[in-house]
Amino acid sequence: MSKRLRSSEVCADCSGPDPSWASVNRGILICDECCSVHRSLGRHISQVRHLKHTPWPPTLLQMVETLYNNGANSIWEHSLLDPASIMSGRRKANPQDKVHPNKAEFIRAKYQMLAFVHRLPCRDDDSVTAKDLSKQLHSSVRTGNLETCLRLLSLGAQANFFHPEKGNTPLHVAAKAGQILQAELLAVYGADPGTQDSSGKTPIDYARQGGHRELAERLVEVQYELTDRLAFYLCGRRPDHQNGQHFIIPQMADSSLDLSELAKAAKKKLQSLSNHLFEELAMDVYDEVDRRETDAVWLATQNHSTLVTETTAVPFLPVNPEYSSTRNQGRQKLARFNAHEFATLVIDILSDAKRRQQGNPSSGSKDNVELILKAVGSQPSVESQDNDQPDYDSVASDEDPDLETTASKASRQKSLGKDAH
Ligand SMILES: [Zn+2]
Repeated sequence: MSKRLRSSEVCADCSGPDPSWASVNRGILICDECCSVHRSLGRHISQVRHLKHTPWPPTLLQMVETLYNNGANSIWEHSLLDPASIMSGRRKANPQDKVHPNKAEFIRAKYQMLAFVHRLPCRDDDSVTAKDLSKQLHSSVRTGNLETCLRLLSLGAQANFFHPEKGNTPLHVAAKAGQILQAELLAVYGADPGTQDSSGKTPIDYARQGGHRELAERLVEVQYELTDRLAFYLCGRRPDHQNGQHFIIPQMADSSLDLSELAKAAKKKLQSLSNHLFEELAMDVYDEVDRRETDAVWLATQNHSTLVTETTAVPFLPVNPEYSSTRNQGRQKLARFNAHEFATLVIDILSDAKRRQQGNPSSGSKDNVELILKAVGSQPSVESQDNDQPDYDSVASDEDPDLETTASKASRQKSLGKDAH
């Protein structure tokens, strides 16, 4: 099935055997120990996923495998390959090295400082360089050469670059050419499938027009990645985009808590945020969902390891220096929310994301509920023991206090899942 399980695979950072994690934005595979360092640096440096225990969109995994097999790691270790660097005493980490400080220092230098990436000759105007690189990216994505594009992105090419003469973005080009792995890479680097070109068309439009059905469907998924991930976190399912269902809003069973004055006030506050601030909060919550899920996978896969958990835990979101200190503090506070509080926040964000996208949430809610129920009927829940109540997902509404909580179910499922590993 997968070409991945070959014994020759080694950790990109320490050359240790059998790497079981991937860094998606770096296009590499890494071992548990190095992964613990990657996690501590934050998603803005490295987006880690477990190769077996994290659900993968197939083409995203294919992108990482392709990059890894084609030597993407040399992008991050460019100057180490230069014989002159041997003179300087710089070297890769070894599998036998200690995580702290040896592996950690190497990994920080490699990805945080980009100490070994090939530097372009200095120019007076950085923006000119970035523009040139972005133009190169724009033309490279029509080919299948992923490493070239990752190299350009690593040097500062912009995934969302709008080409002034061509009137479109790299993702438009990749979509037109049916380059699904390039589209995955661009999306990891923040390309937006909903961007319009000079004639008002999106990359999704071009993928459909060109008959690239899988790519078109995948781009729709990418467009809803944030809210889909939040819904999946709570209820283990994603909306059925192909049938026009773009949001699942799980509902808490004990709505008494939902209806507390405090919760109402929080909801009001959320609704009053500008779109920009709401997007920031939603992204922060997404990062926290990722931290919690990756933590769960981490704990589940480390049972028999000698790693000391205290030194490898990521107790709250690492600081992203590009964010204000207020935002970083807010992000870290998300770790203090207990499962119920966090689920409530996630549901509020999902409801409000839907409201902001579709306008009045009650107007189309009935159709949406029906669609969700149809989806439930055709897709029996994995969990069987407490299915005495139907697994309703409903548009959050104060009039339905009796619905089963998918959120608490999901958290039960998670704790069950943890024990099972
Ligand atoms: Zn390693």
